Amino acid sequence: MADLKEFCGLFGVYNNYDASLLTFLGLYSLQHRGEESCGIISFDGTTFNARLGMGLVSDIFNAGEIAKLKGFQAIGHVRYSTTGSSAIRNAQPLFVDSNKLPVALAHNGNLVNSAVLRESLESKGAIFQTTSDSELILHLLMRSRKVRLEDKLIDALSKIKGAYSLVLMTKDAVIGIRDPFGFRPLCLGRKDDSVFIASESCALDLVGAKLEREIEPGEIVVIDKKGIRSIRFSPPHKNFAFCAFEHVYFSRPDSILFGETVHLVREKLGAQLAKEQPVKADAVIGVPDSGTSAALGYSKESGIPFEVGIIRNHYIGRTFIQPQQEKRDFGVKLKFNILREVVKGKRIIIVDDSIVRGTTSRIRVKSFREMGAREVHLRISCPAHRFGCFYGIDFPDPKKLIANEKTIEEIRAYLGVDSLGYLSLEGMLKCFKKPPSHYCAACWSGAYPIKISSADKYAFEKGKK
Ligand code: SF4
Repeated sequence: MADLKEFCGLFGVYNNYDASLLTFLGLYSLQHRGEESCGIISFDGTTFNARLGMGLVSDIFNAGEIAKLKGFQAIGHVRYSTTGSSAIRNAQPLFVDSNKLPVALAHNGNLVNSAVLRESLESKGAIFQTTSDSELILHLLMRSRKVRLEDKLIDALSKIKGAYSLVLMTKDAVIGIRDPFGFRPLCLGRKDDSVFIASESCALDLVGAKLEREIEPGEIVVIDKKGIRSIRFSPPHKNFAFCAFEHVYFSRPDSILFGETVHLVREKLGAQLAKEQPVKADAVIGVPDSGTSAALGYSKESGIPFEVGIIRNHYIGRTFIQPQQEKRDFGVKLKFNILREVVKGKRIIIVDDSIVRGTTSRIRVKSFREMGAREVHLRISCPAHRFGCFYGIDFPDPKKLIANEKTIEEIRAYLGVDSLGYLSLEGMLKCFKKPPSHYCAACWSGAYPIKISSADKYAFEKGKK
């Protein structure tokens, strides 16, 4: 399992007197999209109420805190830091307390022209409170000379480029927005008279809401007392750029996104992997959590029994994640344990979702050998990662990606496996419902759907984004 981080998860509720409690629950099920900070802002008809903090949703909110967040509408956010540091000032939702237009905003994704925009706004006197690119959107919104909120939004969005799914809240409305390429997911749900917006449909399930549809790329959805209005701010693209890695790794298997259930997509990836990379073995074992569905698919296609051979400990605090190598090895062992009785004397196929630096996989393979596995074959349910991501996933410097440094045979030898096989790019794209031209696969192919400004590229390379 890759140690890669998604930017963020979003949730919003309109018209429910338990809005903050429901937002808390929504964020709880989106915790995998960001573990560093979280926040909820509600509106009670008079006042915006906010609680933001560093840590997990369950660390920041308790019943007392949620009760203070009164109101019938609320939005919430979970975050990892990539653009901007992980300081509390970058926690979201962001809020502008303006007489004209008080507004809260939560963002998932990454803008690719933020360095240029920030410089231009600063030269015009703008003062930024955070180092995150999400604040730019608020500045552009506040500076727009248009009168109606919808027009202000369209005006602001016309200036930004990149990946953005947004949830905003004003005194009157909760608003969902998805960028014209649709990089990050965002969906709309309903329960009775309440309307919900969420990064993934698993959050709707938890609050008992029904998934109505995904918000379209290039669409603004305004939810207010008049109902739900859809506004297109960009003509439909011929091609979209749904993040393929959401399907492979990031999203929860019980979510429906980009038109299909993530678990079923991963099963298809596993089956395709078995066709492309067959090997004789006694058992197929998935690396939990994201490798499990692909391992099931591999097993069904190959006829080799699926076994539970790795147990994941879900209760590791962030305290244990240390950068030093020794501690990192220990961290891997803390997170995963191998079932000796299942692997001893057997030829094992491990199915995993990706190899980034290779350090985690190497330690795990060593553990399989120590537990008596006779042969260890590693199969990866996507192609080899050779490029970084500018659209909201925290990849290391591309030079540190193992597939950039080594050939497949060298990676095999480094990891200490008997054989290694990746899924092909064509094979992966074939497993998705929509045509290949609708997905971003840039971290494998290097074909970036949106060009990044040279100032932003420089900031990425310097680790400032
Ligand atoms: S580069 Fe990779 S991780 Fe980033 S949006 Fe594209 S497919 Fe997703």
